[in-house]
Amino acid sequence: AKFNGGNQYQFFTNDLNDTIAKKMMLETGLRRAVEHEELEVFYQPKVEIERNEVTSFEALIRWNYPELGLVSPADFIPLAEETGLIIPIGEWMMEASCRQFQEWLDAGAELDRISVNISAVQFRQRDFPEVVERVLAKTGLAPRHLEIELTESLVQNTALAIPVMHRLKQMGVKLSLDDFGTGYSSLSYLKEFPLDTLKIDRSFIQTIHQSSKDQAVVDMIIHMALKLDLNVIAEGVETEEQLEYLASTPCQHYQGYLCSPPVPRQQIAERFLGKQWK
Ligand code: C2E
Ligand code: CA
Ligand code: CA
Ligand code: CA
Repeated sequence: AKFNGGNQYQFFTNDLNDTIAKKMMLETGLRRAVEHEELEVFYQPKVEIERNEVTSFEALIRWNYPELGLVSPADFIPLAEETGLIIPIGEWMMEASCRQFQEWLDAGAELDRISVNISAVQFRQRDFPEVVERVLAKTGLAPRHLEIELTESLVQNTALAIPVMHRLKQMGVKLSLDDFGTGYSSLSYLKEFPLDTLKIDRSFIQTIHQSSKDQAVVDMIIHMALKLDLNVIAEGVETEEQLEYLASTPCQHYQGYLCSPPVPRQQIAERFLGKQWK
């Protein structure tokens, strides 16, 4: 089970953890979730540090399991990948978040982009760029408003991944490398991938106000990103001290509980989209 602050996850009792019974229960439940619309999108603001302004959000999936509450994506994404259910789930997720973002734009909000996480299984689908094209056409969202968050593990087969990344870029979609710094060959990827944004992993941010080693790593990532003409965002910012440190660097954006955990769309509208929703 995983519990965290304002972002409560309920889950099966521990004795069921990692058992076949749990897995079967999850799989049956997940199939039903896809059919019965138990999946939901939460949104977490990305804050522009200098102006303290929110114009972008990351879409994060939630499974609202009847009787159990919210199940963490960390608990069901791996199974969704194993069973192939991630394909319909991922497309639903992208469509729902693009549609919502376009709705906010239509209502007059001045927004930059919506970020959607993509699983390796989705990315490796031969028709992945067509799926993205279809979602954009269906929702009417301009490609520049969509950012796809990739992880290093996802793009390990670079010979296959790089052409797909270029196709997405040609369409006008933005690409972000998530959890940066936790993989193995980050540096060589950086010059080969057509990226827009680097997202510094939460693990470096956690002790940034105490650890001069973490400061050195974060400073290095930020300066390298800027030299490569990339945007840079720090994730997992929870305290004023962490933000203060980042504000002393040229890092442009942060994301984290300090501003808000991921929340349902109504809360985004009320808290971040200006007067017309209040
Ligand atoms: P991620 O993409 O690295 O997302 C960031 C995670 O950190 C989210 O967890 C978010 O709620 C959490 N977080 C945000 N700010 C803070 C903070 O200040 N402190 C701490 N401790 N945590 C923070 P979440 O929503 O549980 O998602 C976990 C992971 O599940 C995501 O990691 C992503 O890899 C995956 N995931 C979520 N939604 C999707 C989806 O729609 N598709 C795919 N393929 N994966 C998803
Ligand atoms: Ca992400
Ligand atoms: Ca991340
Ligand atoms: Ca992560």
